[in-house]
Amino acid sequence: MDYLAGIWERNWLTNQGPLVKEFEKKIQDYHGLSTSVHCVANGALGLQIALKALGVKGEVITTPFSYVATTSCPLWEGCTVKFADIEPDYLTIDPQAVEAAISSKTEAILATHVFGNPCDVEALESIAKKHGLALIYDAAHAFGVTYNGKSILEYGDVSMVSLHATKLMHSVEGGFVVAKDPAVRTKVEWMRRFGHDGYDAYHGVGINAKMSDFHAAMGLCILKHFESISNSRRLLSEAYSAGLPDGIFAFRARPGATANYSYYPVLFESESILLEAMRLLSDCNIYARRYFHPLLHRVEELQPASFECSVAESVASRVLCLPMMAIDDVERFAELTLINLNAVSS
Ligand SMILES: *Cc1c(COP(=O)(O)O)cnc(C)c1O
Repeated sequence: MDYLAGIWERNWLTNQGPLVKEFEKKIQDYHGLSTSVHCVANGALGLQIALKALGVKGEVITTPFSYVATTSCPLWEGCTVKFADIEPDYLTIDPQAVEAAISSKTEAILATHVFGNPCDVEALESIAKKHGLALIYDAAHAFGVTYNGKSILEYGDVSMVSLHATKLMHSVEGGFVVAKDPAVRTKVEWMRRFGHDGYDAYHGVGINAKMSDFHAAMGLCILKHFESISNSRRLLSEAYSAGLPDGIFAFRARPGATANYSYYPVLFESESILLEAMRLLSDCNIYARRYFHPLLHRVEELQPASFECSVAESVASRVLCLPMMAIDDVERFAELTLINLNAVSS
C-alpha cells in the first residue's frame, strides 16, 4: 500500500519510474552483481531483446527440455532453431551434443538452467569461445542461484530471468536481463523502451518491453520475503525427499551450485506409471504438472524438422513436477503422495 500511495503521489506510473530503478538496484545487490540489471515486461521479451542486442539472426542451438519460450523467442526473431540433447543427470543441455550440432550457420547457444540447476557453464563457455558463438542463458528458473560462489547470472553473454507469477520470485508479469558486455547492456537499455532518449531522440530501433512501477512494487514486496519463501520451499522439498522413495527426484544438483527449491520434479520408471500416479493424485484433488512435456522438438508448430534427442525423450515421458503447497500441508501431502506412489508401484 505504501508503494502504491507513492506511485499515485508522484503520478509516475511507468517509463523507468523510481520503483523500477529501486527494484533493479535491489536485484543487482541481492545477486552481488557488478553490472546493472535491466527489468523488462516479461521474460520472453527479455530473451528476444537479448537475441536482438547480440545481433543473433541465424541458427541457434537450444534444448528441447524447456518451456516453449526458449524455442519460440528465437523463432519469433527470425532465427532457425536446432535442438541438442540433454545430460541425463542434470537435465541441462549436453555440451557434446551442442558441439556436434554446430554448423557454419550457427550464431548462438541458448541454454536453460532447468529447474534452477545450472548448465555445464564451463564447457558451454569454451565451446562458444572456440566457435565464436553468442552464449545466452534462459535463467527463468534460476533467481538467487549461485555457482562456485558467484551468481549464476555472471555466466554467459546474457542471462534472462523471468519474474512471472508462476515463478519463485515474481512481479506478476516481468523479467530482467543481465548482460556482460557494456555495449550490449546499452542496447538492451534502449531497446526495451523504443530506443527513446528524451522526447525526440532515438538510439536505434526498439520495442516496448518496459516494466511498470506497479509491477516493480509487487516485485519489491516479494523480494523482502524471498529468503523465507525459498526456505519454506527447501523444507517442503526435504519433506518430499523424506517421504518419497529414494532416487525419485528427477535430477542431480550440479556440484558447486546452490538451489532455490523452485520445483520438485520426480522421475518415474515409465510413462504408464506416471499417468497412473497423476490419476491417483487427481482423485485426491492434487494436480501435478508434466513439466516439460511435450518436448519442444516434438511441437510441430515450432519445428517441422526432426531431431534425435533420446535422453530428453526418455526424461520428458517420465517427469512430473509435484505441487509446492503451503508449508502446513507438507507432511500430510508427502504422506498422501507416498501412499499413492506405493499403490502405483505395487
Ligand atoms: C517462464 C519461462 C519463460 C518465459 O518467461 P515469461 O516471464 O513468462 O515470459 C521462459 N523460459 C522458461 C524456462 C520459463 O520457465
